[in-house]
Amino acid sequence: MSRATQAGPSEAGAVSAWIALGANLGDARAALRGALQAMAVLPDTRLLAVSSLYRSAPVDALGPDYLNAVAELQTGLAPLDLLHALQAIEQAAGRERPYRNAPRTLDLDLLLYGEQRLEGAELTVPHPRMWQRAFVLLPLAELRPGWVTPAQLQAVAAQAIERLDAPSAWTR
Ligand code: AMP
Repeated sequence: MSRATQAGPSEAGAVSAWIALGANLGDARAALRGALQAMAVLPDTRLLAVSSLYRSAPVDALGPDYLNAVAELQTGLAPLDLLHALQAIEQAAGRERPYRNAPRTLDLDLLLYGEQRLEGAELTVPHPRMWQRAFVLLPLAELRPGWVTPAQLQAVAAQAIERLDAPSAWTR
């Protein structure tokens, strides 16, 4: 896990938020690195930790393999403000949504926002499908050891996924 030491949010109410990053079009590695840089400079936010880089086969989707990672932010942004900021980063990376589960230059999902549970028209946290996805649970388990259970990891063990690079190697 890589830990950054930038100046960060000043508000006492900052929470930890975990973001899943994925890309399977174009230079996917560059897209994920760009997303890390963009998240690190969001208002009242800092990048606390980044997982290894993984390659996974698409789930419920077509197209090339994905590159995936998970990042931990500390943020004073409210949940919907954070979601909108993530969507703006996706848009800036050239994301189009021609159809559901289309290949994407950049996908950012808000997995967890502190301990909060939210179910709204725009945002559900914890992310409702995170438990079904090896490409979320493996990198998340790196950042929150002991939080993802062996049974949860076992449940996604049949999914094709490969750890490519340690955090220090791919975020450099
Ligand atoms: P996707 O195309 O997979 O990026 O899904 C984006 C859609 O899911 C948007 O309409 C979001 O408002 C909605 N959504 C609901 N919960 C979340 C979440 N936890 N993280 C990201 N998008 C979410």
